[in-house]
Amino acid sequence: MKHYKPKEFAEMLHVSVKTLQRWDNEGVLKAYRNPKVRKLKKKLKREQRSLSRKYENLKKRGEKPATKRGANIDKNIFRVQKLHARLANIRLEYVKFVANEVVRTKPRYVVIENLNVKGMMKNRHLARSIAEQCFYTFQTWLIHKCKKYGMEVRQVSRFYPSSKMCSRCGHMKKDLQLSDRIYVCDGCGHTMDRDLHAATSLLRATDYIVLT
Ligand SMILES: [Zn+2]
Repeated sequence: MKHYKPKEFAEMLHVSVKTLQRWDNEGVLKAYRNPKVRKLKKKLKREQRSLSRKYENLKKRGEKPATKRGANIDKNIFRVQKLHARLANIRLEYVKFVANEVVRTKPRYVVIENLNVKGMMKNRHLARSIAEQCFYTFQTWLIHKCKKYGMEVRQVSRFYPSSKMCSRCGHMKKDLQLSDRIYVCDGCGHTMDRDLHAATSLLRATDYIVLT
């Protein structure tokens, strides 16, 4: 069985490797390593290649794919669709699992950022990991669950500088890069894992709307 490398996996979850290791130590990671995904993706690639080859051959013979499609092409299309559906199901299960884990810890409130998912899709460094997380689905599921159990969900504006503003002294770090995985404050020297730091500042935000 093939497992993800920590780096790949962290990328998929859009957290730092350090955060991942911390989760691992705390026993939070359970269903996270899904070796099926990699296999399915490989299979999907193979099927897609074979399908496009079939189309190419049709074109070479000068036939129109829309009208002269053989049974083999139809079967191939079906296989591709099935693989897409299975991958989507695995992702959905995963998203639900993470949201459920959050709710299970019975927090007093949950703070989420009003993320500009569409804007992030344009940033190609973020696109894949965001898409794979199905962030939007996650948010929806989380709100649904919190409503059910009477937990407050706070939404903070995406312009709130959760990553840049020091959660200890309020100093603004202007030159923070996406590649800086560790946050070091220039004002007070406060050092923390980037994602953990952003989460801490979000927790303390006073300007929010309640979604539940
Ligand atoms: Zn500071």
